[in-house]
Amino acid sequence: MSRKRMPSAPPAANLELAAGGAACAAPSLQAEKPALGRAPGTLYLVSTPIGNLEDISLRALRVLRQVRLVAAEDARITRKLLDHFAIPTQVLTYRLHSRCNQTEELLACLRAGQEIALVSDAGTPAIADPGSRLIAAAIAQGVPVVPIPGPVAAISALVVSGLPTGRFAFDGFPPRPRADRQAFFASLARETRTILLYEKASCLHATLEDLLSALGPDRALAIARDLTKPGETIYRGTLGQAIPPFRRRKPRGEFVLVIAGSPTPDAPSPE
Ligand code: SAM
Repeated sequence: MSRKRMPSAPPAANLELAAGGAACAAPSLQAEKPALGRAPGTLYLVSTPIGNLEDISLRALRVLRQVRLVAAEDARITRKLLDHFAIPTQVLTYRLHSRCNQTEELLACLRAGQEIALVSDAGTPAIADPGSRLIAAAIAQGVPVVPIPGPVAAISALVVSGLPTGRFAFDGFPPRPRADRQAFFASLARETRTILLYEKASCLHATLEDLLSALGPDRALAIARDLTKPGETIYRGTLGQAIPPFRRRKPRGEFVLVIAGSPTPDAPSPE
């Protein structure tokens, strides 16, 4: 991105802002008609901290300050972040699954030359978070898309795990339906790369039990809890060792599981 200030934005998109409100019901984004020959604006994919606010980059702060609009997973959460850094930029909740056609409206603003930053509640947008549809649509329409790199919980967990980092497979959250889970964990048994999973505290124990059934007690893993937060803890051991403590105590916090790959691709499931 050029270091010069962005050209002053066209008279604004009319926005439904923050406050968890009815972004769909109210007047939403209204892009100007693009002037003849005007270049489209840029969609910035801005990574934000996963806990420790010091992890935001100088470039992320500059872009968040300069853009016309921040499209956020939850405007209330992002408003707090921007307020912490005294950034007055307007924030809109980007509702991926809503009926209103926000993707089209955001694209119209971009085509009209406006600069927009896409952020998620934490970490990198579109990584187990909304955003990929807007990104693909922007690319398809010739809108420049620029990443502003920063924290990803899975990558921090991988590097701190002590497990091989050369080849890894990120699988996001395990599926919830029972039948899908069986197929999912069975496929992990054949995975030779280091496996990265996200999991909620309420599902952690069930997922560890399913991993134990599929991969056996001796498989090495690391469990990264609340990375970059005051309670950050990294458990390193085997699946067999990891389960009892979580049986005894209800887990709290945010978790990434890093699991050693299978030594052989055809490793049979222990069941
Ligand atoms: N976009 C985010 C990223 O770049 O990592 C991920 C968002 S996903 C909806 C949220 C999940 O990421 C959590 O349930 C947890 O598995 C993981 N996560 C996020 N922050 C974390 C942290 N500080 N420590 C451990 N895991 C975290």
